[in-house]
Parts: sequence; structure tokens; C-alpha cells
Amino acid sequence: MAPGTKSIMLILSSPSGAGKTTISKKIQQKHKNFKISVSHTTRKARPNEINGVDYHFVDDLEFKKMIKRGDFYEHAKIFDNFYGTSKKSIEELTKNNFDILFDIDWQGTQQLSKFKELKLLKIFILPPSKDELEKRLKSRNQDNQEIINKRLNSYDMDKLHWSEYDYVVLNDNLESCYAQIEKILLDYKKNFINS
Ligand code: ADP
Ligand code: 5GP
Repeated sequence: MAPGTKSIMLILSSPSGAGKTTISKKIQQKHKNFKISVSHTTRKARPNEINGVDYHFVDDLEFKKMIKRGDFYEHAKIFDNFYGTSKKSIEELTKNNFDILFDIDWQGTQQLSKFKELKLLKIFILPPSKDELEKRLKSRNQDNQEIINKRLNSYDMDKLHWSEYDYVVLNDNLESCYAQIEKILLDYKKNFINS
């Protein structure tokens, strides 16, 4: 991540199932200069996920080799799996002046925040309730009950990190949540260009 980069770096974090992947995809569809940072993970691909598009799926050994080589800007263990943002994927995007959207957790956000040269816009998304979160995790229909339970169990801890972000947005109605995030982004962009 070269100092002085011209890329806007938007981080979306939330408890799992609150809607950040859905919102990230909407942003990328509408704002063509935004590219989602494709992370590496040791998690198994879900049925609808494509290697290289949703994640780079690697095994534990490869991930640990990457850590040793210093390939990551940040990485974290989440729900028994490793997730990380590789330097290579980000450098390719900044080189081409794309804006970058990170769908990462609070641990990754803390690590990226240490790179003071980066101008990060950090948004935390909250679901209306834990019951609604459970409904969403179930309706996504991609994880088994054991995995859903792990994600629900970490909700109480995850949500405590909201205060480390620039904005907190409630994802009750998807369209209104998206509109709020888009407004934050466009306001930020105006200041970013003028700064
Ligand atoms: P995350 O990436 O935060 O884990 P997802 O974007 O995968 O969450 O969303 C989890 C599920 O909830 C998906 O099935 C998605 O379609 C659904 N969802 C997202 N936002 C809303 C909303 N506002 N109301 C109802 N369902 C939603
Ligand atoms: P999922 O398994 O649902 O795709 O993601 C689980 C959690 O891992 C989510 O909170 C997601 O934001 C986070 N995550 C995905 N990629 C990364 C990454 O590269 N780094 C970090 N720190 N978290 C990530």
C-alpha cells in the first residue's frame, strides 16, 4: 500500500450475517471504480462461491507459508479459520487507481488502521436484533447449524467494536441502509478529492 495512494479505502465490518457482503456487491455494481479486496481464507468455499472471485481459497499450510513470507497486510483467525488481505491483491488495485472495498472483521480493521498513511473510511453495520440476525444466517442457506451457532455466539462480542469505526449504520431495510452508506461514501469522496 504505497503512501500517498489515490485510492479510497472503504472498510465494511459487521457481525456475520448482518449484510455486508450484500451491500459490498451493491456498491461495486453501482460504483464501477470500487473493487472488492479478495481475501485469502482457509474456510471451505460455500456452494455459491467462486475461487478467486469471493475468496482465494487455500489450505492451512499455504496460509501459514504466506504469513511467514510476510504476504499479508493483515490476517485474523475467525470462527476457526484464517482470513487475510494480501499485499499483492491490494497493490494491484492501487496501481490501477481503483477504490477498494474491504469486507473484513474488527481485527483486520485494527491492523489496517496502524498504516497511518492510509485514509480509511470505516463503517460498521448492525442488524436490527439477534433474532433477525439468526433469520438471515438461516435464510442465506449456506452454512450448517453448527456454523450458524458459532456466528451467533460471537455476535455479542463482535458488536462491541462499533465504537472503533467512523460510522455505524443499521441494516434493517436494505435499501435505506444502502442509501445511508452511499451518502457517507459520496460525502467522503467529495472531501477526499478536495483534500
Ligand atoms: P454478511 O456478509 O454480513 O455475513 P450477507 O450479506 O451474506 O451478510 O447477508 C446475510 C443474509 O441476509 C443474506 O441472505 C442476505 O440476502 C440477507 N440480508 C441482507 N440484508 C438484509 C436486510 N436488510 N433484510 C433482510 N435480509 C437481508
Ligand atoms: P465469511 O466466512 O462469512 O465469508 O466471513 C467471516 C468474517 O471474516 C466476516 O466478518 C468477514 O468480514 C471476515 N473477513 C473476510 N475476509 C477477511 C480478511 O481478509 N481479513 C479479516 N480480518 N477478516 C476477513
